[in-house]
Amino acid sequence: MDPLPPGTAPPTPPVVGGVVASDRYCIRCGYALAGLPPTGNCPECGTSIELSLRERTLAAAAREYVATLKTGLSLVLNGILLMIVLMMALIFSGIFAGAMGTPGIGGIAMVVRLLMLCVQGMILYGYWKYTEPDPGQASLEATNSARAIMRTTVAIQALLALVSAALSFVPPAVGAAPLVGLLNAGLMVVGLAVWAVQFFAAMRYTRWIATRIPDFYIIRRTKLYMWLLPVVCIVGALLMFLGPLVALVMYWNLLDRLRKQVKSIVATGQPAELKGRVG
Ligand SMILES: [Zn+2]
Repeated sequence: MDPLPPGTAPPTPPVVGGVVASDRYCIRCGYALAGLPPTGNCPECGTSIELSLRERTLAAAAREYVATLKTGLSLVLNGILLMIVLMMALIFSGIFAGAMGTPGIGGIAMVVRLLMLCVQGMILYGYWKYTEPDPGQASLEATNSARAIMRTTVAIQALLALVSAALSFVPPAVGAAPLVGLLNAGLMVVGLAVWAVQFFAAMRYTRWIATRIPDFYIIRRTKLYMWLLPVVCIVGALLMFLGPLVALVMYWNLLDRLRKQVKSIVATGQPAELKGRVG
């Protein structure tokens, strides 16, 4: 193993008494490897256990890298909260305008839309930081294609947001309104597809990060949420958009737990002892 970067703790021994230690998980699927011989393969996905054990925990990774993850998660989590507030402001300004018939309210909606664009930029930048490659983990990149997929979707979303902003802030030329409408509808469909891909990649990437804490609670949740959140979102969409909001809150709480862990590792060099961490 190559020498540790300065300022990092030595990794915990992954093998105790000839078997895998209690807090090690498969880097591909999150399976609990405790008690298995270190020479075999993961019983669930077939990945070599030796490969999973070569992975450094975040506590043993370069502290700057873990700090980058923390910054990224904070930008995403605070951005989501701001976005919810702005969406409510947009809905209320719409209701208000409808009730009063005031012509000036369009300006407020415009300002809110502009702020939403800034917050969207903040969230995308946060995801970009959250998916930064670990300089000490280059050899294990092959097990982590979710990271690359996430970054691709973030880049596409940034592009879509700019096009959509240009369409909504620049008044269309005379006679171009139907074309703009068609373009907006197209952007929405593409945006939704990209967002769905990003969600599944985010769950897989978050699972991979959680195996490095390790936090078995997060690992299990990322598996559960892969199907549960889409179901909550779609079924609940029929109930006045409550479903997407509930799914968003669940997603937020999961990333918030990861932020707590990353924060603890940056501050103390150790993960926080939260309920259900070791499975
Ligand atoms: Zn596995």
